[in-house]
Amino acid sequence: MCEAIKYIDTLIIGQGLAGSLLGYQLIKLGQNITIVCDEHSPSASRVAAGLFNPVTGQRMVLQEQAEHIIPTARQCYQTLERELGQTLFHEKTMLRIFKHEKEQKNFEKRRQDSAYAPYLDKQIDSAESILAPYGLGEQMQTGYLDTNALLDSLRDNFIEQQSYISAHFEYSDLKHSEHGIEWKNIHAKRIIFCQGFMDKDNPWFNYLPFQPAKGEILTLKSSTTLPEEIINGGKWLLPLHDGRYKTGATYSHDLSHLDPMPEAKTELLNGLQKLFDDAPHFDLVVQQAGVRPNTLDKHPFIGFHPKHSHIAIFNGFGSKGSMLIPHYAQAFAQHLEHNTAIPREADISRIKLPTNKTATPTGRLSLTGRVHQMLLPHILSVCKQGDCIAIDATAGNGHDSLFLAHQIKSRGQLFAFDIQQQAINNTEKRLNEAGVADNTTLICCGHEQMLEHIPNTFLGKVNLIVFNLGYLPRAEKTVITQKETTIQALDAAIQLIAPLGRISILAYPGHAGGDQETYAVNTWLEKLPKHRYSVIKHDPLHGSANSPQWFEVVRQSQAALSE
Ligand code: SAM
Repeated sequence: MCEAIKYIDTLIIGQGLAGSLLGYQLIKLGQNITIVCDEHSPSASRVAAGLFNPVTGQRMVLQEQAEHIIPTARQCYQTLERELGQTLFHEKTMLRIFKHEKEQKNFEKRRQDSAYAPYLDKQIDSAESILAPYGLGEQMQTGYLDTNALLDSLRDNFIEQQSYISAHFEYSDLKHSEHGIEWKNIHAKRIIFCQGFMDKDNPWFNYLPFQPAKGEILTLKSSTTLPEEIINGGKWLLPLHDGRYKTGATYSHDLSHLDPMPEAKTELLNGLQKLFDDAPHFDLVVQQAGVRPNTLDKHPFIGFHPKHSHIAIFNGFGSKGSMLIPHYAQAFAQHLEHNTAIPREADISRIKLPTNKTATPTGRLSLTGRVHQMLLPHILSVCKQGDCIAIDATAGNGHDSLFLAHQIKSRGQLFAFDIQQQAINNTEKRLNEAGVADNTTLICCGHEQMLEHIPNTFLGKVNLIVFNLGYLPRAEKTVITQKETTIQALDAAIQLIAPLGRISILAYPGHAGGDQETYAVNTWLEKLPKHRYSVIKHDPLHGSANSPQWFEVVRQSQAALSE
């Protein structure tokens, strides 16, 4: 049965803080909106501590337009607190530990400046248990937003208003013309992307200079009585309203692994020790990693694509989302309804659309990283329901295996194949170093023989099989996957895959033999019975004819087959 067409004003992609607050403002202005969110997609807002701090960095720089931005944010959260009947914004003094005398003097100088005066209070020589040989400065108008509570409540409200769809958004499903856009059964005047760092791979906005930075945060418990203020001294410690603490954050432009890493935990725990005279004991509750949607010029990205007047972006708030988004959401909503100007510093018209838009901004995810990011929702949803069985058909240097093992942990099993002993060794080392080698079986043999190595009990039970074809990077380029054995392995994979399970194939037509292999894979995909398998051919991962191609095969559910 065909679903009825739904006509709306604005389709928003992403329900992080940006999408949520923009949606909220648009509804207030009378718009009919729908927010599409893939709840398994990585969300920086869900990881962020929601810290609110108008004076930041070693140089103690005041947020531009703080006099507008701070009151707008406070007022927005107060209104939301009243409407949603819960406390969301927690006001807390911040104690900044001075690293040296120069910082102490700078604080004093800033404090005399009338622009800074509302945010910087007195200096104190010491605070109980804190290690501060150069003293501390008290910062005002600081605190944190309980972002998760706010996003949960807003999502419930959007659901109640039938303005929310939980789904994975595929760019290839979007149709657009000069009149508006269509996505599935929704016809909208415009679409606005609010997908955080993932918009750097958005085909319409990948020319914008994003500079995403991974950050990790720990949530902790402690039986020691600790200061009630936020402590800020290199790393920060934030006491939460429920008695727990958060500490953060690490900072890295390396996005090859989006998961929490053991070295980040060590860095954070060491940083925490340095804040105290006598380091208190903490128990780890959870370690989380997210990617900040930072931008090269440190200003947000707001506005419509220069050539497509119905496709817009509202993004790039970096690590200051809780402070900045209310101001910019109001401004953009007013622009959409009343055609007022987009704040100049945030308007994407400041960035020229390159004629050849293949420029690679720094911080871009590696190819496999991008595939991982897109496979993540599937693997998380499998792990949520039970054990996950996965196969890495080409172990290579172990990046895919590491990604899979990280997600599976003790909830399932991973089998990895490679014909090169070197590759098996590299993978083993990588898994051991990350502490995720349990429940993994590494097999030095061709993937075309996988049926002989995977226990029979897993026939039709494997949730994900990953092929990353070609040659082992940084090794002998003559050992490449061959079209004949690749097709045999794909035939074997089809027998192993579970209902709703996926086979992911990353093929590289750019090297000798790779073109024929990619062609053979394409032919194999065409022959799969359509009522049993859906085939997704993703948009080319770069832009040229030789660019890598990513395919997914999804086995239909049993229910769909018996219908
Ligand atoms: N997944 C790897 C990673 O994350 O580092 C990259 C894989 S690399 C592009 C391709 C690998 O396929 C090489 O290590 C190569 O040795 C392996 N290979 C080639 N033929 C194979 C076969 N018949 N069975 C299994 N592995 C094979």
